[in-house]
Amino acid sequence: MCQKGRAWIELSRENLAHNVRELQRILPKHTAMMPAIKANAYGHGAALVGKALQDMGISDFCVATVQEGIELRLAGITGQILVLGYTHPSQFNELAHYNLVQTVIDYPYAQVLNDYGKALPVHVGIDTGMRRLGERSDAIEKIRAIWSFPHLKITGVYSHLCVSDGTTAEERAFTQLQIKRFRSVVDALHKSGISGFKTHIQSSYGILNDYEPSFDYARTGIALYGVLSRPNDRVRAAADLRPVLSLKARVECVKTLSPGEAAGYGRAFTAASERTIAVVSIGYADGIPRNGSQTRYALLHGQKVPIVGRICMDQLFIDVTGIPNVAPGDEAVLIGSSGIQQISASDLAEQSGTISNEILSRLGSRLERIEVRA
Ligand SMILES: *Cc1c(COP(=O)(O)O)cnc(C)c1O
Repeated sequence: MCQKGRAWIELSRENLAHNVRELQRILPKHTAMMPAIKANAYGHGAALVGKALQDMGISDFCVATVQEGIELRLAGITGQILVLGYTHPSQFNELAHYNLVQTVIDYPYAQVLNDYGKALPVHVGIDTGMRRLGERSDAIEKIRAIWSFPHLKITGVYSHLCVSDGTTAEERAFTQLQIKRFRSVVDALHKSGISGFKTHIQSSYGILNDYEPSFDYARTGIALYGVLSRPNDRVRAAADLRPVLSLKARVECVKTLSPGEAAGYGRAFTAASERTIAVVSIGYADGIPRNGSQTRYALLHGQKVPIVGRICMDQLFIDVTGIPNVAPGDEAVLIGSSGIQQISASDLAEQSGTISNEILSRLGSRLERIEVRA
């Protein structure tokens, strides 16, 4: 514990293992989890999380970039690593060297990958309606033609849902349409005698909202980390997910403001009455968004305390008036629990006008990541 410095992240391997079990319980037996550990495992620390998951028996992972894949290989991840995003041809040798599986973004990109001239393992992306990556699901001839490139070793075909977190009839119908389009591509390939590839389409909300899940993999991101994107999201599956990450920082100093005195940049917080404020050693460079509502709070000594004034690059202010014995070195909680109080990543996200995925994935590299029990 002595390595905890000014601001740090605590990770619960127990909660991670619990979430793995919960998600595996919801998924059918033949569907394997393919954790999304891109963006430094949503800020949790890719090497730590990847190795913990590997120890739990998981062997397939997905990331966004080649560099993220290399980091996992260097950390000792031995299974399949799928790169979901774009890789520039100058990095194709790294794909090959580190045995990473590249996504075929569309038909023209298949040509570019093939032009590398050496065998590359790939999964073919299918665009079933998101209009982001993947060859269009209605371009079945082009999709089929991807199998004729001699250097592409196609081991998977996948798509991505874009409104599986929605609960309206329209959104559910669109998700079902995406799944139907995906199935018809898979069927058409099978009918052409093309087989031997794995299939996947669901990510967290696709699992939690009970869509027909009978594919080979499920790419689990945010749910694996034990949080939903928004605090008030409702999902169909009864999943008991537990947050893996807590975010804490030290009180650096405590000050008394007289009525009318102001604190911080822009003198944005003015004490209406005598106030005690604490300066906490975490700021926007660590991933606490500078913009946010006036209702943001942190936890200190088991109590909710308002975050006041402008968030600085390396510090923020909390109003601790009335809380006894606040002293330098005390732990302030930005995400996590203190006594009976709790603040989730999605609470902080909502107070900052975003979703937990963004808050977590932007947690700064200078935060220490420490494994804790429970
Ligand atoms: C990020 C990502 C995921 C994981 O999404 P979650 O909603 O966090 O589970 C899955 N698939 C693709 C293509 C992604 O980009």
